[in-house]
Amino acid sequence: MPIIEKNLESILARIRSAAERAGRDPACVRLVAVSKTHPAEAVRHVLDTGQRVFGESKVQEASGKIPLLPRDLEWHFIGHLQTNKIRKALPLFHLFHGVDNSGLAGQMDRIAGECGCFPKILLEVNVSGEGTKFGFRPDGLKTEIAGLLALPRVQVVGLMTMAPYAADPEASRPYFAALRKLRDELEQQTGTPLPELSMGMSGDFEQAVGEGSSLVRIGTAIFGDRPRKIATPDL
Ligand SMILES: *Cc1c(COP(=O)(O)O)cnc(C)c1O
Repeated sequence: MPIIEKNLESILARIRSAAERAGRDPACVRLVAVSKTHPAEAVRHVLDTGQRVFGESKVQEASGKIPLLPRDLEWHFIGHLQTNKIRKALPLFHLFHGVDNSGLAGQMDRIAGECGCFPKILLEVNVSGEGTKFGFRPDGLKTEIAGLLALPRVQVVGLMTMAPYAADPEASRPYFAALRKLRDELEQQTGTPLPELSMGMSGDFEQAVGEGSSLVRIGTAIFGDRPRKIATPDL
């Protein structure tokens, strides 16, 4: 079995046992295999495992890769969408994970009207309050959520977060727990279900599953290291 396929099988097994340990149904946690920076060939390698959901963080890169692969795959956008890329991105992606301000959601809604589509989004929350992180502040989201849910085209289906980097994955757990609590409060406040919680990456997905994640975004642990980060503007 090729190494990528083996990695993916082992991640799926770890997701299953993390769910079981938490008393959750493993079927409620979906793996987003993050294929950014890796070629279409790498994605093709894991299709035999049954994996169908893949994550990309650049519109330009994804728009070259997606047409090379089977049509039944589900592509998720996990990066920060620039407003000048919305029109190109809308038809490519099934779910947008990182919508981090109301202005972007509003622009997506307007362009979706012109394209005749109904994009699904997750609102990115800056749970840790780190200055360098993208995302809504939890309190800000409580005031903005009504406006976001009222958008006629964009459908808010949940929340997303990234824990601050830490060597110990247990350090991520409080941030994941806080996202889940915020989701529960927003559901209470608005009466609208927000079923999806996108949290957990290669280093901390087991903690995220333990705290209620429904979508884990895993790249390195499946596809291996990405090329060292050089300046790559999403042109
Ligand atoms: C790249 C990326 C991931 C995957 O990270 P790994 O550590 O390689 O698993 C997850 N989420 C987001 C938002 C990313 O940009």
